[in-house]
Amino acid sequence: MASIEMRNIVKQYGDGFPAVNDVSLDIADGEFMILVGPSGCGKSTLLRMIVGLEDITSGDMIIGGKRVNDKAPRDRNLSMVFQNYALYPHLTVYENIAFPLRLSKTPDDEVRRRVDEAADVLELREHLERKPANLSGGQRQRVAMGRAIVRQAEAFLFDEPLSNLDAKLRGQMRTEIARLQRRLGITTVYVTHDQTEAMTLGDRVCVLRKGRIQQVASPRELYEQP
Ligand code: ADP
Ligand code: ADP
Repeated sequence: MASIEMRNIVKQYGDGFPAVNDVSLDIADGEFMILVGPSGCGKSTLLRMIVGLEDITSGDMIIGGKRVNDKAPRDRNLSMVFQNYALYPHLTVYENIAFPLRLSKTPDDEVRRRVDEAADVLELREHLERKPANLSGGQRQRVAMGRAIVRQAEAFLFDEPLSNLDAKLRGQMRTEIARLQRRLGITTVYVTHDQTEAMTLGDRVCVLRKGRIQQVASPRELYEQP
């Protein structure tokens, strides 16, 4: 697990207005931070710079006390969960969860142990031999999270993971994500434009507007504002 420190982060695409404009934010080890704000305010860009999928124009990205600006995604040891899940349709649930461990040539018995552990936490035990097409949206989401868990990453990054689900499932998954994050105690950055998620999930909420931080506060402080 690791803290995430951003120092004066700027992202400039082409010669337009910066997508992210001088953002400094400290996320503590084990903290659950929500990023909210209107469409186009820079949430996804910021998340992608944390994971290393986007170059940083200027500023420092520090993860676990180390500057990672020049590190490739694979060397940052973070786990990103996207809204489209990105599961492999031809692989079983077991093999989907095991995938990152196969890439890193983890021994079979270790793979088995870690996948079983993740499947227990996520209540996917009975579904391990099924293919993604035969799962519900919530189950697919949990498989994607299983793949994130087995990597034993330093932090979880979520980019609107629930936006494709119906309201009922979204409510269930919200509860599950909150529970899982607390159980694992893993540093989490969660992008959403959903007010309910912003107010219920995180320890703190960072509100972005036009690439800048407007405020950082606990959900309670935000709620009690006039
Ligand atoms: P959000 O996730 O809050 O909706 P984004 O981070 O996707 O916002 O986008 C922030 C700004 O950067 C927007 O103005 C968007 O049009 C612009 N932008 C995002 N990605 C690119 C890109 N690859 N090339 C050029 N501009 C981009
Ligand atoms: P490539 O085809 O570029 O090698 P891979 O999908 O094999 O891409 O991923 C390479 C590395 O990038 C992985 O080992 C992993 O560390 C990192 N990576 C890929 N996807 C993610 C993700 N969703 N979240 C975090 N890191 C990722």
